Amino acid sequence: MASGEWKAAYCLTEPSSGSDANSGKTNAKLSADGKNYILNGQKMWITNAGFANVFTVFAKIDGDENLTGFIVEANSAGITLNPEEKKMGIKGSSTRQVFFNQVEVPVENLLGERNQGFKIALNILNIGRIKLAAGVMGGAKEVINHSIKYANEREQFGRFISKYGAIRHKIAEQAIRTFALESAVYRAASDIDHAIHTKIGEGMDKQKATLKGIEEFAAECAMLKVVGSEVLDFCVDEGVQIFGGMGYSAESTVERAYRDSRINRIFEGTNEINRLLTVDMILKKAMKGELDLMGPAMAVANELMSIPDFDEGTGETFEKEKKYISNFKKTLMMVAGTAAQKLMMQLTKEQEILMNIADIANDIYVAESLLLRVEKMVQAKGLEQSQVYVAILNTYIFDAADRINKAGKDALVSFVEEDELRMMLMGLKRFTKVDPFNIKTARQLIASKLIDKGDYCLSDAIN
Ligand SMILES: Cc1cc2nc3c(=O)[nH]c(=O)nc-3n(C[C@H](O)[C@H](O)[C@H](O)COP(=O)(O)OP(=O)(O)OC[C@H]3O[C@@H](n4cnc5c(N)ncnc54)[C@H](O)[C@@H]3O)c2cc1C
Repeated sequence: MASGEWKAAYCLTEPSSGSDANSGKTNAKLSADGKNYILNGQKMWITNAGFANVFTVFAKIDGDENLTGFIVEANSAGITLNPEEKKMGIKGSSTRQVFFNQVEVPVENLLGERNQGFKIALNILNIGRIKLAAGVMGGAKEVINHSIKYANEREQFGRFISKYGAIRHKIAEQAIRTFALESAVYRAASDIDHAIHTKIGEGMDKQKATLKGIEEFAAECAMLKVVGSEVLDFCVDEGVQIFGGMGYSAESTVERAYRDSRINRIFEGTNEINRLLTVDMILKKAMKGELDLMGPAMAVANELMSIPDFDEGTGETFEKEKKYISNFKKTLMMVAGTAAQKLMMQLTKEQEILMNIADIANDIYVAESLLLRVEKMVQAKGLEQSQVYVAILNTYIFDAADRINKAGKDALVSFVEEDELRMMLMGLKRFTKVDPFNIKTARQLIASKLIDKGDYCLSDAIN
């Protein structure tokens, strides 16, 4: 596989077992001579199935509660495939159903340990999620390039459409979201690398360190999967709009991009499942004592009782932006902490609230990543050279404040009442307050850089 001669497929999903992946019915039984597992069952939506040489198949041995992983060679007797699925997009990818009928799998092909397959499947998904985010980031840049090129060539009412504010707004917004996503992807990737190297330095073997390092940032991987797939969907949608009627033509690249993008919100765990997982992971860390959620939540509650501070600050660069992000975190603590305290075990069933909390966490992670990156740029290149990036940061924070406010409000009104609710809504207002600035001018500045250059020219920024 490493030399590229063999291709692989990952067989987890079944017709009745999608998001609930551990509920698969595919079963494995040890043969009478103890040399093989006999595999029977059906897998669905299997990428690469048409040409894979090897399948990683998840099945239950003798009706175990949990899955076990198996390495199955594609030419094993008893494997059959359905024809290619007729899909909305990613038509270059092979997606087929795979049937296992009395397939003999040598016992030594059991992957890891019995009953530990689901863990393996999830670890694959963790890394798959950050890779998906990096992949969609590339897709977003590509669609921005097409959008700018078309806008610079298409004339209406005697001017190139890239001169119109409505189109410039779209291009700026595509770039803001993509640059912000890129900042978060690089940050998580660097954090994972760092964690792996630290563990190796402490004497852990490389394989285990890699697994543990990725696992440590599983919440970030889930967040990036959601944010990335939604950024790409935004970019392709606006790409089609910039192309107008041509965007709806099967001849245009953006039409294909629009269709190809959509799957990213569905596979590698749907965005709903990944949002639930993000909050679940945060709450589990809090319960295990790895993350102090209640302490800061109480501190925030106390702060709400006090008079807001009107500290003038020291004038340090990005002092204000750091304060905004610290306040956004207080919102998260207030909403998640109060929800955990009031709803306790019931919270896991309150999905609307969990979605709100996940949205707040996603925006904070991205905004903070963006701030860290732009701060680094300003330190290296100076404020003057970094104006476009500062505009991206300010625009993102300005919009994120409103989104966080809305998500926080939707959550709080569903489980807090009367005086306490009034106090918390006041706190929410305080924590999501950002100073007004001319966002139109900021977007114009960003759009000008891209439109004048003719492509997405922000990749030379410091990572
Ligand atoms: C093109 C393509 C390629 C794929 N490649 C592979 C592959 O290579 N290998 C593989 O194993 N699988 C693959 N899949 C399967 C993919 O991972 C699943 O489609 C995905 O996990 C969702 O499962 P499902 O389709 O059964 O949807 P369902 O689980 O039925 O979900 C339907 C809807 O209900 C929501 N939902 C489900 N459960 C909950 C819940 N508890 N709370 C709230 N909402 C919920 C979902 O978010 C979704 O919106 C692929 C799918 C496609 C379309």
